[in-house]
Amino acid sequence: MKGKETPLAPPALLRAGIGNDIHPLVPGRPLVLGGVLIPFDRGPQGHSDGDALAHAICDALLGAAGLGDMGTHFSDASRKWRNASSLEFLRRARTLLDAAGCSINNIDATVSIEKPKLRRYIAGMREAVALALGVEPGRVSIKAKRGEGLDAVGRGEAVRADAIALVEASVKQPRARVATRRQRSR
Ligand SMILES: [Zn+2]
Repeated sequence: MKGKETPLAPPALLRAGIGNDIHPLVPGRPLVLGGVLIPFDRGPQGHSDGDALAHAICDALLGAAGLGDMGTHFSDASRKWRNASSLEFLRRARTLLDAAGCSINNIDATVSIEKPKLRRYIAGMREAVALALGVEPGRVSIKAKRGEGLDAVGRGEAVRADAIALVEASVKQPRARVATRRQRSR
């Protein structure tokens, strides 16, 4: 190996994505957040289980990979998703990312709800989300916040979630860009 430099691994292309979601809280619906069922007298209204946290994470991942959003892939009109576990959306997002040559570096998310306190459920949410995405829980950060009496979250009328995701894309991309430029110059 004398005189020979160890070649560097090809640089990863990092791409960030952002997602957010909000659902009204209504009586008679189970409260599921990050795939975890939380005892409460209200739950999110929605076509699926209304898991705002999972939906925000899903949109962040799809956005990072340039694959659109949940509406692109999982139609609200489809009966298939009626009351479906939103962890299934995360599993499918992982499959879509795999096909696009993207791997998940990390996710950070905040779920905002006035009540109940989520602290004791956070570890379970991280595990459930990580399992659905096929990554270690260390790559998934979830934080909880209250609405401090302000807006729909603060009045206890809604649950909201925000998420950011960082994915590593395989290095096929530069070539695709050159091709696009050539097409434009014609
Ligand atoms: Zn949603």
